[in-house]
Amino acid sequence: MALLDNLLTLHRVDSQVRALRSRVTSAETYLNAQERQLALLARQKTELETQLKQLQASVHALEVEQSAANERVERLRTDLNTSTNDRQYKAILNEMKVLEGQRDEIVRRAVEELQRVDETNKRLETHAATIVERQKVRDVARGKYDECMKDVGERLAELEAERARAADLVPERERKLFDRVAEETEGEAMAEITIVSLRHREFACGSCNIEVPFETYARLSSNSNDAIQCKACTRILFLAEANRPADPKSGGGAKATKGTEEDREKAALARDKAKFEKTKKL
Ligand SMILES: [Zn+2]
Repeated sequence: MALLDNLLTLHRVDSQVRALRSRVTSAETYLNAQERQLALLARQKTELETQLKQLQASVHALEVEQSAANERVERLRTDLNTSTNDRQYKAILNEMKVLEGQRDEIVRRAVEELQRVDETNKRLETHAATIVERQKVRDVARGKYDECMKDVGERLAELEAERARAADLVPERERKLFDRVAEETEGEAMAEITIVSLRHREFACGSCNIEVPFETYARLSSNSNDAIQCKACTRILFLAEANRPADPKSGGGAKATKGTEEDREKAALARDKAKFEKTKKL
């Protein structure tokens, strides 16, 4: 088999491997995004819980302060009842008023803090519900990923082995070239030469439409074993089977090559016309 046929086989298998890999990759990317989302929610939950603990501790401290203030007020009231003169009575009364004012302030702050405790509890509840929802989404994503791996995993392993066998048939230099171009073109390493006009020796790259010199066509149609790249898009150029010369080993060659040059040109023109129509529509 000629180099270009081997390259085309490699290209066919390589495309299938890429398509399957991209299915797995997108399922994996989606699943990872869900896991990241959940990790973020878990961090937020911890933050809210810490806030809640701090608020509860603050409420507790205010309650202790409040009961201490109550005790002092009660003590002062007793003192008031046992006061022996008017001056003492007034002094105790003043102290009581100050203390009661302080106690009211403590109660006001405690009520505020308790409201914040309530709000934080509500936020935690909403947050917990969000986590449950996101977990459902994550579980679906994981299911899809597992399913994809099950569907694709075995087939991908087969195809990768097939790709390795196809790659073995291509010499190292051309294989490296193919791999490089396939990476650059996202798996579109091969481009068919479009025969614009055989009579006028006009040819174009089927992928980027840049003119291909006659010499390149001549080399490929003379069954040369060269990997020739498009000068513009770097894809490896090939001739459609119908445009290739008869392969002596295959004992006949492609059907279109049996006719006269005129027939070949006609067939090529019809194909190119269809191709250009297709391009125009894009
Ligand atoms: Zn090109």
